[in-house]
Amino acid sequence: MSFNFKITHKGENGRARTGVIETPHGPIQTPAFIPVGTKATVKSTLPDSISSLGAQAVLANAYHLYLQPGSQTIDEAGGLGKFMNWPGPTFTDSGGFQVMSLGAGFKKVIDMQGDSLEESITSSKERLAEVDEEGVTFKSHLDGSSHRFTPEISMQVQHEIGADIIFAFDELTTLYHDKRYQEDSLERTRRWALRCLDEHDRLTKERKERPYQALFGVLQGAHYEDLRKKAARDLGTMSSSGIEFDGFGIGGAIEKSRLGEIVGWVVDELPESKPRHLLGIGEPTDLFEGVENGADTFDCVAPTREARTSAVYSTSGRFNVSGGAYRKDFSPIDDSCQCYTCKNYSRAYLNHLFRSKEILGPTLATIHNVSFIVDLVAKMRSALHNGEFTEFKDSFLGKYNERKV
Ligand SMILES: [Zn+2]
Repeated sequence: MSFNFKITHKGENGRARTGVIETPHGPIQTPAFIPVGTKATVKSTLPDSISSLGAQAVLANAYHLYLQPGSQTIDEAGGLGKFMNWPGPTFTDSGGFQVMSLGAGFKKVIDMQGDSLEESITSSKERLAEVDEEGVTFKSHLDGSSHRFTPEISMQVQHEIGADIIFAFDELTTLYHDKRYQEDSLERTRRWALRCLDEHDRLTKERKERPYQALFGVLQGAHYEDLRKKAARDLGTMSSSGIEFDGFGIGGAIEKSRLGEIVGWVVDELPESKPRHLLGIGEPTDLFEGVENGADTFDCVAPTREARTSAVYSTSGRFNVSGGAYRKDFSPIDDSCQCYTCKNYSRAYLNHLFRSKEILGPTLATIHNVSFIVDLVAKMRSALHNGEFTEFKDSFLGKYNERKV
């Protein structure tokens, strides 16, 4: 087994820490932002670019890769990293989020983009996913074909994809579900977690010639303190087939304004010695909240998705580089950014690329945005080491939030 987590420094508040996750494909210095390569590619960029900007790992998605090209194909290719030419550590999300969010039609609610709840839910007859005790039956968003994920199938798919860190199959709820439903769902996710451990153990033994894959349990519980803490206690102490979870994912519907509070609840209940991944979080303010409250790794589509719409991050806030104001602005996106895009290109050039719909626009903006977020979390790591986290947070966010998009 070549998975290990070592805490290297503890922050003053007792929750935040720095550490190193060791995987069969190399180490991850934490806290760290993990760029998303949903379909085994960080959209529009070469793995070399993602590696050069300092990203330590990438996270792909089991649901998407199961549908296309099929997890068996990736297995035959030698696993995710080899298939996509990414030699470093890899993660896969279990597909639990996607079968429910794409299938059930409440994508926006749990996408945590801050959209109003009213416009975010679709009527039940349009839903494409049904949950039962055994698993979830869903329709492919690609062609409408019917599929079924169970905890066992998710483990099989993720073993075939072969990422270093994989996640247990959970039921995603939204803030719409009432507490009674959240309680029932959380119990179901707990039972599914036991089945994931059993199947993971079986597959690990059956495929022992493959590099070890670490399994993280996923904590749900919406915005209820008792449920979140129960989930953390249940999965934090869970053991089956003689194995435990190697780490934990904090998932589900989270009101952004309560992110830090919710992370803090579960962190206080989880074993300190295991890494914690905050699923789907990547905006600067949220990253500070997550790190401060003890999360070690993060992933989010926002930096890449926004880059493709020409929204770019800067130390004085996020802005749209395709806007008219940047037509003749020959400065880089951010003066202090050391990325390939900022070293070589101006806002005016990016403005031109986006306006003329050139493919290079999304590529350069993605390199910058991913670099900006990866670098921001790396700076949080240094600040923690130097005992200057709060000062860094205040000074960064003070400047970042000055600008209104
Ligand atoms: Zn840059």
